[in-house]
Amino acid sequence: MKYVVILPDGAHDLPLPELGGKTPLDVARIPHMDRVAQTGRLGRFVTVPEGFTPATDVGTLSLMGYDPHVYYTGRAPLEAAAKGLAVRPDQLILRCNFVEIGDGLMQDNTAGHIAQEEADTLVAALNADLKNEGCDLYPGVSYRNLMLLADAADLQFRAAPPHDIIGQPVARHAPQGDGVERVTRLMDRARGVIAGHEVNRRRRAQGKAPVTDIWLWGQGRPTVLEPFAERFGPRAAVITGVDIMRGMGRLMGMEIIEVPGATGFIDTNYAGKGAYAVRALDRLDMIIVHVEAADESAHMGKADEKVKALERIDEHIVGPLWERVTREPAWRMLVAADHPTLTSTRGHSSIPPLFAFCGTGIAAVERARFTEAAAEAGGWWITPAHEMMRAFVGPTH
Ligand SMILES: [Zn+2]
Repeated sequence: MKYVVILPDGAHDLPLPELGGKTPLDVARIPHMDRVAQTGRLGRFVTVPEGFTPATDVGTLSLMGYDPHVYYTGRAPLEAAAKGLAVRPDQLILRCNFVEIGDGLMQDNTAGHIAQEEADTLVAALNADLKNEGCDLYPGVSYRNLMLLADAADLQFRAAPPHDIIGQPVARHAPQGDGVERVTRLMDRARGVIAGHEVNRRRRAQGKAPVTDIWLWGQGRPTVLEPFAERFGPRAAVITGVDIMRGMGRLMGMEIIEVPGATGFIDTNYAGKGAYAVRALDRLDMIIVHVEAADESAHMGKADEKVKALERIDEHIVGPLWERVTREPAWRMLVAADHPTLTSTRGHSSIPPLFAFCGTGIAAVERARFTEAAAEAGGWWITPAHEMMRAFVGPTH
């Protein structure tokens, strides 16, 4: 059996006035995703259990068949795994965003999708300045960096994901808990380093908004996952533009296939991802393609961009993979959203998102388009979501 898994991150949405009361999935021309739903099973699943923050880490762990109650330790540990960072027992792994805070509000959780070179320069400057605080920063993709913090075994705090507080007062969402003074001090010192840095002088000269702060969040201890092949059977590879998925893939014992131009943004190399995925199926049982573009469009509040991203995923990734995999004697294909990203609020939601799968041994039951309304009206309901993967790779349905 060959398996194809396509993860349009944050694809699920709610009806939007700017789309005439429809969702981006309703409006988008996505014939291949529709075909998966129409010829197989369509449903919704509870990817974000109660008490968890809705995000790609928890949502995708669930989706891939790992109960977050058992396996989730934080977002940053998954990203540290992507980089293969060695972490000492006394160290805490934190996510460190470059952000823009202005007038006391979180203006931009990405510092304008800061250029890689600028991010690398600022990380080097912060490492030099914060060394005596027991901090080690590691540059990631654009605004997404990591920090290892020494002597932090007892540090217990909560911090809001910056993408969930866009436009809101940061004072209301400042980190809270035991030892939080240290976290606040680090953020304050970093602000001083960044404010006077050459990177910001250049940005001002170019008419760009400044980078003002680091935002520390998503912290946790190293994560250990049972290999996917041992748990479910198929030998899989992952294609993604973001470290969180690379890390999860690594921890699940999967191969990570790097595609040139996979950016984790709306300008990603859709066709490249599709082509690499098609080729990977020659030698592997399962290919997983994760695309961040729909999620990022919703975070920007741009319904038209989200529609475009979904259409590009369908045309350049789902289509070619459909052509390739349906030539196999036995095959299955899954399309699933890890969590909704609402264009209206520009944030994630815990609403159970939709999924659809079809292929050998799977009967067409719902016979509906790949839309939220169809999944809600007559679809299969799976809770908890980590049982969906067992159904997808399991016996006939
Ligand atoms: Zn998101």
